[in-house]
Amino acid sequence: MAIDFDVDPEFQVQIDWVKKFVSEEVEPLDHFMRVGEDKQGNPLDEDSMKAVRAYIKSLQTQVKAQGLWGFHLGEDLGGPGLGQVKLCLLNEILGRTRMGPTVFGCQAPDTGNMELIAHNGTEAQKKKYLEPLLAGEKRSAFSMTEPHAGEPGEFKCMAVRDGDEWVLTGEKWYTSNGAGADFLIVMAITAPDKPLLERASMFLVDRNMPGVEIVRDVHGFGTPIEMKYDDSKRRLGGHAYIKYDNVRLPIDALLGEEGGGFVGSQTRLSGGRVHHAMRAVGVCQYALDMACERALSRRTKGERLADKQMVQADLAESFIQLKQFRLHVLYTAWLIDKTGKYTREIRKEIAAIKISAAKVNHDIVYRAIHLHGALGMSNETPLGDMWMSAPYMGIMDGSSESHAANLAKLMLRDYEACDDLFPTYHIPKLVAKAQDKFEQVIADYLEK
Ligand SMILES: Cc1cc2nc3c(=O)[nH]c(=O)nc-3n(C[C@H](O)[C@H](O)[C@H](O)COP(=O)(O)OP(=O)(O)OC[C@H]3O[C@@H](n4cnc5c(N)ncnc54)[C@H](O)[C@@H]3O)c2cc1C
Repeated sequence: MAIDFDVDPEFQVQIDWVKKFVSEEVEPLDHFMRVGEDKQGNPLDEDSMKAVRAYIKSLQTQVKAQGLWGFHLGEDLGGPGLGQVKLCLLNEILGRTRMGPTVFGCQAPDTGNMELIAHNGTEAQKKKYLEPLLAGEKRSAFSMTEPHAGEPGEFKCMAVRDGDEWVLTGEKWYTSNGAGADFLIVMAITAPDKPLLERASMFLVDRNMPGVEIVRDVHGFGTPIEMKYDDSKRRLGGHAYIKYDNVRLPIDALLGEEGGGFVGSQTRLSGGRVHHAMRAVGVCQYALDMACERALSRRTKGERLADKQMVQADLAESFIQLKQFRLHVLYTAWLIDKTGKYTREIRKEIAAIKISAAKVNHDIVYRAIHLHGALGMSNETPLGDMWMSAPYMGIMDGSSESHAANLAKLMLRDYEACDDLFPTYHIPKLVAKAQDKFEQVIADYLEK
């Protein structure tokens, strides 16, 4: 029996340190940055922002001293090489914060891009792009989805070979950090007539190359729309709509094998989905904590909300959903650690947790908002932000439906059709078979 839910004591010390550090240092930073003004109501000026940036650097130094900087990285890349289960336990804590990933050097989309370059890059590409990314000196983006299609089979953005160059042409949409990044990894079709998995390649594109045009820096809803992109206000955090207009790339801009883009990007997306799922656990736990505190504090009709059976049922439902989801994510991480590969079995689990993440996040945050009444609908609790981002989970990195289709396809490979008139589990058939068996069992017994 090797099943063991204990965390080894040395790692528990690190978890405890991260929990304390996040609650005492990172969460106050989130709250301070949310309002962006001082106690007197003055907006933060350049000097104050410099002080905040220096403070963030000092937090990063403390993280480095603990050996937790870039904790998603293997030892070969200067990270602690924790493996997926431990990564999950840390991502769960960071899920409660906005600035946590920046302070720990594991912010998306840089994390996935680091893995992509580490696995597919040449030595020169690693030096130019990976090293500064690891050091937190450069920021990156991953440019794959297109305005007319999120599904790779429909992509149109092309890269065509012209002598010693690749010429990149097309449009990309919702490229997170696209406007503020120093470079982008762009997925482009290089062999339109080949089977889907050999059709695309990835390219490293410097953001300031001629022909890279940000049409708009798109943000999530609830943010004012910017009709014209203003490069002087360039910043991270948006999801850029980008035109690549005859961008002439050197031959060594190709990342990985020509035609290996879709397969190569799966490494990035698969690991990322597990990390997102565990950060969703952190978000949901925070929402449930708020719901429990409120249920104990708020009174109606002479008793606490916590004494109302329908409130109790909601709290219990959230607890059960969260516990099951958390165990499923950890189980998936454990499978990855065990095999070291994204096998069919693991891809099945990843698709399943990706789908659950959206549902569990939605349900638990909704119940917490509902339980808070008008306070839950206000902009004065963290629940509003959680609710705005809840639908993301069912869309980013592929819609729940496309993952469900994939999951069902993978599941069905373990089964065979029954070509008889009735299925293999048809009871009359099973009884007839059992009667044959027991005819013999009884005869043997009576013969003795
Ligand atoms: C927060 C966030 C960050 C993102 N960051 C990036 C990024 O950095 N880089 C990048 O390239 N992209 C990014 N994306 C885009 C993301 O990858 C796509 O939104 C996603 O793949 C879905 O594609 P789509 O938006 O075109 O939706 P569509 O493919 O148009 O799907 C829309 C809807 O159609 C239905 N549908 C789709 N497929 C199926 C199916 N197979 N079966 C049944 N119904 C289906 C579903 O209801 C689905 O929600 C981001 C998205 C979000 C929300």
